[in-house]
Amino acid sequence: MSLEDLELFEDDINKFNVSETCKDLARRVQNSPGPRGGFMVGLVSNTKDGMFFSDEASLKIYLDTAQTKRHMLPGYNYYKKISDFYDSHFEEGELYIEYVKFKCEEKNGIICEYCTNGWSASPINVVPKPYPDENYKYKSYEETPTSDMDGIKRKPDDFQPRSQIRSQFENGLLKSGSSSDEIKQFSQKYAVHDESLIKAELNHMELIKFKREKRSEKRKKTTQEEKDKSVDQYDWHDLLSKGKIKELSVNLLSIFIRDKQLCNPIPRKKSEKISLVEAYLSRQNAMKQCQNKRSNEPQAKEIESDSDEDCDIMSDVSEEEINFEICSTSDIDSTSESGDEINAPPVVVNRFGRSVSHWKHRKFFGDSDSDSD
Ligand SMILES: [Zn+2]
Repeated sequence: MSLEDLELFEDDINKFNVSETCKDLARRVQNSPGPRGGFMVGLVSNTKDGMFFSDEASLKIYLDTAQTKRHMLPGYNYYKKISDFYDSHFEEGELYIEYVKFKCEEKNGIICEYCTNGWSASPINVVPKPYPDENYKYKSYEETPTSDMDGIKRKPDDFQPRSQIRSQFENGLLKSGSSSDEIKQFSQKYAVHDESLIKAELNHMELIKFKREKRSEKRKKTTQEEKDKSVDQYDWHDLLSKGKIKELSVNLLSIFIRDKQLCNPIPRKKSEKISLVEAYLSRQNAMKQCQNKRSNEPQAKEIESDSDEDCDIMSDVSEEEINFEICSTSDIDSTSESGDEINAPPVVVNRFGRSVSHWKHRKFFGDSDSDSD
């Protein structure tokens, strides 16, 4: 299994798990009391298109835009309000998000309007996070401290085993090859009785690291190849036929679009660049096939075929483009000067690979050419 196959496989697993989690959430929401009376209904859509409401595109733009420029975006006030509320009221760990009423006071120094109204009891504290005791057990709820020895509030995940394994792995303190003493020490401190779970997590971290390095290597190699190669050295039609245009880097696609003058300004999104390049190459391919077909047929037939719908691909090529090619071809000038309109005109090909005619030869190519204007 190649790295790409493995990533696709893992992607499928993630999709399945997310879908199952959504179903679980929907079941919990189903028939719960709604905010405005009545009861709620939990539904899951299998595809993005099936969603009642999706603001993914706008949200993505909001998040991708620099904070100083966000105020110009549609939905700015809506997203800003939610985002500020989230930042000042939620505590987030690796495996949990806890909404804490009155946390705004701790973060901003003032109690927000939302917490001021609609709350009649005294503010409540955060739920204390598990704290290991002896013999791989956790302290009881009453004994669990919310602050450390120095009276400083405990940080999220300070004793969460998986999060701690990851952070120690990143800092080089633990690895899959760590000694059994090191693993034992960790298992005692963070109350993980089954040491094989620690080893399995470390192996998983090694795999993630390995994949990250491979991707990085591949990126570097691709970047170097692109530096060493000019756009024309790529077999673009081969890449198109193998469906590999989408694997090219954004930079290379941009250079191609710029060199071939496909669009100005160059589109920002990679998907748009891919579509543009693929459309251009597909058109070239189609033109080539059309031209080959015509050159293999008798002359009389060729004239007729000009109006055939399978050869009408260039119907959107402007007159200017065709004229430009004709005028820049000296052969045509000499032919037209001689007034030799009865002889077969030379085959002139425009930059899209299509045979074009001079206006003086129009009667040979007939009305069919005017169809393409
Ligand atoms: Zn508040």
